Amino acid sequence: MFDTLSDRLTSVLKNLRGKGRLSEADIDATCREIRIALLEADVALPVVRTFIAHIKERAKGTEVSQALNPAQQVVKIVNEELVGILGGETRRLNLAKTPPTVIMLAGLQGSGKTTLAGKLARWLKEQGHAPLLVACDLQRPNAVTQLQVVGDRAGVPVFAPEPGNGVGDPVSVARKSVEQAKHAQHDVVVIDTAGRLGIDEELMRQAADIRDAVRPDETLFVVDAMIGQDAVTTAEAFRDGVGFTGVVLTKLDGDARGGAALSVRHVTGQPILFASNGEQLTDFDVFHPDRMASRILG
Ligand code: GDP
Repeated sequence: MFDTLSDRLTSVLKNLRGKGRLSEADIDATCREIRIALLEADVALPVVRTFIAHIKERAKGTEVSQALNPAQQVVKIVNEELVGILGGETRRLNLAKTPPTVIMLAGLQGSGKTTLAGKLARWLKEQGHAPLLVACDLQRPNAVTQLQVVGDRAGVPVFAPEPGNGVGDPVSVARKSVEQAKHAQHDVVVIDTAGRLGIDEELMRQAADIRDAVRPDETLFVVDAMIGQDAVTTAEAFRDGVGFTGVVLTKLDGDARGGAALSVRHVTGQPILFASNGEQLTDFDVFHPDRMASRILG
C-alpha cells in the first residue's frame, strides 16, 4: 500500500546523507519534499500540517546527538513523528472486568466488517477466549449467511435471529446475544452491524441504538484504507453519530496510496487497534505503529 510514499520518503531522506551539517534551507527543502509526498499519498491536510510542523521544529531545534549525524537525526525524527501520527504505543483490546466483553463493529457496507468479524473471532480464539459472533446486520440479505460462513471457518458459533422469524430487530438480537453469551460462557461477544453504501442517518441511529442496548466495551470503526480522503469524512460521521473507541484498517494489501491509514488516528483521536491485509481469516494482526512506520520508511 505505501510503495510510492515509501519510495518518495526514502529518496528525500537519502538526499541528506553525507551532509555534515544541515542548514535551515536544507531542512526547509526536505520538509517541502516530505509535504508533497504525504499530500500525494492522500494524507489529510491537517495531518500533513502537524507532521511537517513537528519535524521542522525538532530538526531546527536543539536536539544534538553524539551518536547520529544530522541526516540520521532527521530520519530518526521523521520515524518518531510517523509513529506518533499512527498512535504511538500499540493499544491493546479493552476487556471487560466482568465477562462478556462486548465488541461492536461499525462501518460502511463493503468496508470489510463481516470478514473482520471472522478474523477477530479467530484471533480471539487463538488468544484463549471463547467468542460468540452476533449477526446484527439484518439489512443486507446475505449478511447473516456470510457471517455464518466466516464463523464456521473460524470455528466460532454465530448468534442470529431464528430463520422464519421475519427480518428481526437488530437491537433485540444484540441484547439477547449478551444473555446467550453469559449462559453459554462466551467471554467475548463480537457484534456485526449493518452498513450502508454511504453515511446515512438511519444506519447511525440503528448503530447507536445497539450501542445503548449493549454498552460495548469497544466500538470499533472498520474502515477500508483504499477509500482515501473519504475515510476521514466517514470516520468523522461515525465518531459524531455513534462514537467509537478504536479503529480497524482493512485492505492494507491494496494498492491505494494509504493516506487514510495515516490520517484516521490523528483526525479521530482514536487508536488503530487492528489491521487487515487480505481476504483470508489469517490476514489480520494487531496494529503496531512502530512496525508500520518502519515499513513506510523502508
Ligand atoms: P462488509 O459489507 O463491511 O461486511 O464487508 P465484507 O466483509 O463483506 O467485505 C467486502 C469485500 O472486501 C469482500 O469481498 C471481502 O472479501 C473483501 N475484504 C475484506 N477485508 C479485506 C482485506 O483486508 N483485503 C482485501 N483485499 N479484501 C478484503
